[in-house]
Amino acid sequence: MKAKELIDLEDKFGAKNYKPLDVVLSKGEGIWVWDVEGNKYMDCLSAYSAVNQGHCHPKIRQALVDQAEKLTLTSRAFRNDQLALLYEELCELTDSHKMLPMNSGAEAVETVIKCARKWGYESKGVLEGQAEIIVCKDNFHGRTLSIIGFSTDENARQNFGPFTPGFKTIPFGDARALEDAITPNTVAFMVEPVQGEAGVIIPPEGYLRDVRRICTEKNVLMILDEIQTGLGRTGKMLAEEHDGVQADLTLIGKALSGGFYPVSAVLSNDEVLGLLQPGQHGSTFGGNPLACAVARAALKVLVDEKMIENAEEMGAYFLDQLRTIENDAIKEVRGIGLMIAIELKEGAPGGARAICEALMEMGILCKETHTYTIRFAPPLVITRADIDWAMEKIRKAFA
Ligand SMILES: *Cc1c(COP(=O)(O)O)cnc(C)c1O
Repeated sequence: MKAKELIDLEDKFGAKNYKPLDVVLSKGEGIWVWDVEGNKYMDCLSAYSAVNQGHCHPKIRQALVDQAEKLTLTSRAFRNDQLALLYEELCELTDSHKMLPMNSGAEAVETVIKCARKWGYESKGVLEGQAEIIVCKDNFHGRTLSIIGFSTDENARQNFGPFTPGFKTIPFGDARALEDAITPNTVAFMVEPVQGEAGVIIPPEGYLRDVRRICTEKNVLMILDEIQTGLGRTGKMLAEEHDGVQADLTLIGKALSGGFYPVSAVLSNDEVLGLLQPGQHGSTFGGNPLACAVARAALKVLVDEKMIENAEEMGAYFLDQLRTIENDAIKEVRGIGLMIAIELKEGAPGGARAICEALMEMGILCKETHTYTIRFAPPLVITRADIDWAMEKIRKAFA
């Protein structure tokens, strides 16, 4: 089918909760994707960092196929021969004590909220029903009701209430604000190491170290949502490593499956996950053998193929190159690892969308966040030659 017909079908039958670029993709390999007409594009979004390992990585694909031929789902009523191995490998890689597998990122966030509250009541001694969790302005943690209830994006919240109580918002990157917001009922502070959907917002140097110190002093759980920043995106396995700290609870998802299948997890470095008793939380698909086999392969290639080191090196190179673009419309170029953004000045004609559309014409797919920010987050397998190729187009798009 032609692109136009497929787009018309989508418009006719689909809910309009997205506004995608009009490119209809049918194939992917590494950093490249192809549309139904056979045009080739460099993917500079990586499905919001779910395909850090590159599209259709052959080793992850093989793991998926092999496992699909053996056993896909048992439910957690029974055990399977993949889950224990994922537990061990993931805990070893992330220096965690325990993990709890879920499917989507939002489910991992919901899970961590339940666990933090339970810890507050059973370990910290907060009175039943009084637990508070502090989050940041401009956060993005997913789309379920509890989560959008503490979003500060009006568009994400409007007409979806009433919401779950028990959340408090402070500015991002402001450790002092955290210190001031904590009360005896505060059980946790949840934050993204770098705010992704807000437009790659990098906090001041040392922020996570300050957060760690404050949380320890006040007996508050530090929860890092690394669903986007984790698994190599910022040039480290987890972004917390840049500050040399360990969160009490860490959320990962997205690249945990290399884009093949929804797999997420809550990682715990404290005894928080140990508080859950049988029947208190679960998911039919969470921890299924297909998900576990895929996740194991996705983690293995990330490490074996040195994708994290590559993200650090290529990210620095890409950032340097982007900073050489001279254009009055550019306000700032910022990034960490391969999580990079160009922010345009307010009122730049056409905004970020116009640049993204121009880049699409030249064979680069990226997506604006908000009106004036263009994000560059290619798969972590990108090479210097690929970046040089992309830079030529990006320079043209700004010319
Ligand atoms: C994508 C994302 C989520 C939500 O993940 P889903 O799989 O879309 O539910 C949560 N937190 C962060 C930081 C994300 O980037």
